This record gives sequence, C-alpha cells and structure tokens, in this order.
Amino acid sequence: MTLSAAMPPDLRSDQALLHYISSEDPQEAEALFAAARELRSSHYGQDVYFRGLIEFSNYCRNNCYYCGIRGGNPRVERYRLSLEEILRCCRLGDLLGYRTFVFQSGEDPWFTEGRIVEMVEAVRKEFPDHAITLSIGEWGRESYEHFFRAGANRYLLRHETASEEHYRKLHPREMSLRERKQCLWDLKDIGYQVGAGFMVGTPFQTPENLLEDLRFLQELEPHMVGIGPFIPQADTPFRDYPRGSFEQTLRMVALTRLLLPRALIPATTALGTISPLGREKGLMAGANVVMPNLSPKAVRKLYALYDHKICTGDEAAECRLCMEGRIRHFGFEPNMARGDMAGWEQRKVPANAG
Ligand code: SAH
Repeated sequence: MTLSAAMPPDLRSDQALLHYISSEDPQEAEALFAAARELRSSHYGQDVYFRGLIEFSNYCRNNCYYCGIRGGNPRVERYRLSLEEILRCCRLGDLLGYRTFVFQSGEDPWFTEGRIVEMVEAVRKEFPDHAITLSIGEWGRESYEHFFRAGANRYLLRHETASEEHYRKLHPREMSLRERKQCLWDLKDIGYQVGAGFMVGTPFQTPENLLEDLRFLQELEPHMVGIGPFIPQADTPFRDYPRGSFEQTLRMVALTRLLLPRALIPATTALGTISPLGREKGLMAGANVVMPNLSPKAVRKLYALYDHKICTGDEAAECRLCMEGRIRHFGFEPNMARGDMAGWEQRKVPANAG
C-alpha cells in the first residue's frame, strides 16, 4: 500500500485499518500523521486546548490489573483532597488562565453521589463559566444525571478496550465491558460531552482489538478520545509486561483523528512519559489538547497509575509555562478558552429530566 502526504488514506475497509495499525514503515506513518494534522487544522487551526487536571483522590475499589492505584495494591499511600483543597486548586488554575477543570479520581467510596454533587455545585457556583469535566469512573444513569444538573459538562471514561475477550484479561470478573459501554451511551444521551479511549500495548492486545477500538469509537462518536501507551507499574499484576509502543500509539492517535475529524484528542501524559517529546509528537500526529496537572505538589507522586510519570515535581504554574513553551516550539498556539468540540451546542436540560 502506498500513501502520499497529499492524498488522505482510505480507511474504509478493516483491512486498510489493520494495515496502518500494524505497519512499522516510518514513511507511511509520517503520511498518516500529515493527513491527521491537516484534518485537525481544518477544524481547529494550530490551537491546542489546555485543561487543568485535578487528581483529587487515589482511593479505588476496583482492581484493574494494569493500574497502580488499584484497590488491591497495599503499597499505595492513599490521599483524598478536601473540598476546600479542591477549590484552592481551581482558584490557582483560574489565575493561571484555565477555563476547564478535569476532576479525576479512583472509584473512591467516600465520594458518594451526594459528595460529588456538593463538589460540582461548589465549583460551579464559584466558576459559572468554566467547563467542569468529571473522570470518576462508573455510576448509574441517575447519578450521572444528578452530576449534570449540578453543573458538570463533560465526562471522561475510557472504555480501555472494546473487545469483550480482551477486557476480561485486563479486569477481574466483577467488572464488565458491557456496563462500561452503557455508561458512555448514558452520558452521551444525558448531554455531556463524552470522552472514551483506550490504552495501546496492554498485555494480550492484538491488532484486531485495536481495530475494534476504532470501530467502537466510530459507533459512539465521542467528543473526546484519550489514547495512551500502557506503562507497567511495579506493584500491579502486569508489572513484568512491556510498555506499549510509542509509534503505534501515535498511529492510533492519527487514525482516530482521521475517523473522528472534530474530536478533542489529548496528547497524554503517558505519551510524554515514554518519550521526551512524546506529547509534542502526539500533537504532530493529530492531537489538539494537553492536560497539565493542577493537583497539589504534595500528592502528585501518589497518583501513580504507572511508573516514572512525568511532571510530578512541578508546581502548577511551571507545568503551564513549560507546556506553553513546548507547544509554541512546534508551531502550535496555546488556547486557554473552554474549548468545546467544534460544532458543539450545549443542551441545557438533561434528557429524561423531570
Ligand atoms: N477511575 C477513573 C479514572 C481512571 S485513571 C475511571 O475509571 O475512568 C485514568 C486512565 O489511566 C485510565 O482510564 C487508564 O486508561 C489509564 N491507566 C491506568 N493504568 C495505566 C497504566 N499502567 N498505563 C497507562 N495508562 C494507565
């Protein structure tokens, strides 16, 4: 198969997608990245959107085999920020120019539905115009509706892998891909801008699994897609498996851009962790979002999903400036606006509400 930068690749057939998922030809990859960049530019220009990430608890009741903060890991020092600490992160983020806050945590039972609602309401009250993004795992539809009504706008829930068989190899029995996918459909239906996503190079993953991920994304049509390499964490069952391939992760970013032209796609911290210019190269492969950390410096290291995570020693202001410099260096323009998906229109009342 040949491909020139001037000619966007034809990705209609499974066979063509599988080819690009697996091809290690650097020229072919570059052509894929060029086509992805061009498509991204046609919707977003050179703008890269900044989201302030607040990792507010690393307690988790789940036991995903890949994740460092899994409940079954006794070696994690657990922490949970108070509402006042969370609001302080937001205030600092606001001063630094952020207009989107992303609240992420493990599935921490202390944060009941009521406490999440309280948090969202408090942030919404103080920051009426900011985007509030939640990334707090699986809940029932009603809970998602309550968070939405309290003021949340967006929700990140990676599906992790769209293959039932592969999902079983990454998660214990009590977790279910069907339920996770249902959460995504519910979130979308309620009116959230929704982020799905997956890891590249998790143990036992095949090219066909990645094809299924892309087909699922085409079906769901999420507004955001998070893609990062699997990185082993020393205290998990997957400690001895190799990390995902950097190049394959970039190709998956580019393919996702080509299949979902208007999606907001972050250049992830995991990508930056496995290569010094990882995030920049992610942008060059079609990503258009970065998520610098706003969590208090004292707890950064404790939110250890994987080993050697970058930027855990920096102050929020340093992260902001560092990312800005890196982005400009590659010809991109930092954009601190809310950055909703191109063409997105806010629905005010959740479907089925009252
Ligand atoms: N509890 C929330 C947030 C999960 S942490 C939820 O269920 O959505 C955010 C993401 O980190 C996960 O969705 C997963 O894709 C990624 N992650 C976890 N462990 C990882 C690892 N070892 N390597 C790379 N990414 C990992």
